[in-house]
Amino acid sequence: MFKRLSNKLIITLFGLLLLLSTAFIGFAVWSTPMFLQELNQKLNLGLAKNIVTEKELLVNHHVNQEALQSVFMGLMVVNPLIEVYLVDTDGKLLAYSAPPGVVKRDRIDLAPIKTFLSADRHLPVLGNDPRDVQRNKVFSAAEIRDNHKLQGYLYVVLGGQAYDSVVDMLQSSYMLRLWTGAIIVSLLIAGFAGFVLFRHITKRVQTLAHSMEQFKHSDFQQSVGLPARFDGRPGDEIDQLGITFREMSERIIQQVKQLQHNDTSRRELVANVSHDLRTPLASLQGYLETLALKGPQLSEDEKKHYINIAYQHSERLRKLISELFELSTLENQGARLHFEPFSMSELIQDVSQKFQLEAQGKNLQLSTHIPAQPAFVSADIGLIQRVLENLIENAIKYTPPGGQIGISLMHGQHTVATSISDTGHGIPEADLPHIFERFYRVDKHRDEDGTGLGLAIAKRIMQLHNSSIDVASRPNAGTTFSFQLPSAELSAHH
Ligand code: ADP
Repeated sequence: MFKRLSNKLIITLFGLLLLLSTAFIGFAVWSTPMFLQELNQKLNLGLAKNIVTEKELLVNHHVNQEALQSVFMGLMVVNPLIEVYLVDTDGKLLAYSAPPGVVKRDRIDLAPIKTFLSADRHLPVLGNDPRDVQRNKVFSAAEIRDNHKLQGYLYVVLGGQAYDSVVDMLQSSYMLRLWTGAIIVSLLIAGFAGFVLFRHITKRVQTLAHSMEQFKHSDFQQSVGLPARFDGRPGDEIDQLGITFREMSERIIQQVKQLQHNDTSRRELVANVSHDLRTPLASLQGYLETLALKGPQLSEDEKKHYINIAYQHSERLRKLISELFELSTLENQGARLHFEPFSMSELIQDVSQKFQLEAQGKNLQLSTHIPAQPAFVSADIGLIQRVLENLIENAIKYTPPGGQIGISLMHGQHTVATSISDTGHGIPEADLPHIFERFYRVDKHRDEDGTGLGLAIAKRIMQLHNSSIDVASRPNAGTTFSFQLPSAELSAHH
């Protein structure tokens, strides 16, 4: 298809050049005779006048035959193509040098003569040719006066060579041949240059088209190998096209990958949800069944024990479902946030207070490091509390007894930063990028309590606050989660 483009361009170019050259040559052929006529008339401008001042041709309205004959003879010798006519004041021919019989008019139009004699004439001026009723020719003319009275005109028809055809004309004129040659040579050069240029341009377009084709064949998966000279330097439109196409293809590849990723993660999610719901449900059913079947044979303590376990499983199920529901509400656009200014310092104190007992139970030291200066933030207090709870819960869960958990608050320029650190067993580097994913748990078997949803919920909440959660961890040393919120003073200006 791009072969056709270059052909089209070249054919168009040649068509245009052909048209142009035809017009050029046509113009030359049309204008050359006019030019020659003009030249002829210019060269013989004063001819008639000279004759008139030399000889008295008309005296008292009578033709001076003797003078006239000598004029005729003189001119015949110099240029046989020149014809002399004597005309009276009405345009009637009184005498002429041409042989009798060839003159077809007995009077001529005086208007061209008057134009010729006037000051503002434009050469060539054409007048009647007495030998032909149709034709006009260039001439020279002069008034004939006797005692200042107008007697008539001397009308000299300047015969030129007449050409029957263009070829005739070309053959007889070296200049014209030179001209035509020059036009043909320059057309050939222009045509060749155009051919090379179009080839060059279409070649680049072809390369581009080839890249696009390749991209299509790779099922929009593989980046296109566009030539390196598109890099960095924004050149002409074709370069721009290449750059834009390259960017576009990269974008498409990215989006296709994203779509594929979304698809897999959705499938995984469904699988995970069903698995995670089925496990506690099966256990719950198992214990209830045992109770129902063996009820009478069991001791009170055993019954209590079984009921307790069944309750724990149902509790886990409840937690899972409510967290799942919470996450999906947060992920849906329907999540409505209630922004309000509140003291982050107080919130941290309150939440850590709530976990003191649990921490002590695990022999963990839970402490807060809060500057005296109050730290007001603008956020949804309920959701931020949820983030704190999730992070502190995790810290307690994943820190062995005897460890420490610290919650600290710091003022930034326009933000308030909160961090939760522990001295727990940390998170392996390979797992770090994934811990915020739904259902992702570093050690699936170690802790039956975890749902793998806590961090996903926390991350989503921070996202809704246009912020994020950072994590830093060293295995067997500890983990720090931190997030930032805008200061209330700042957001009051919004
Ligand atoms: P879970 O309910 O399993 O705690 P989370 O989404 O809260 O789910 O956390 C995901 C995983 O990240 C956890 O299973 C755990 O392996 C790891 N993790 C989270 N917080 C910590 C922490 N403070 N120390 C070590 N590992 C952690």
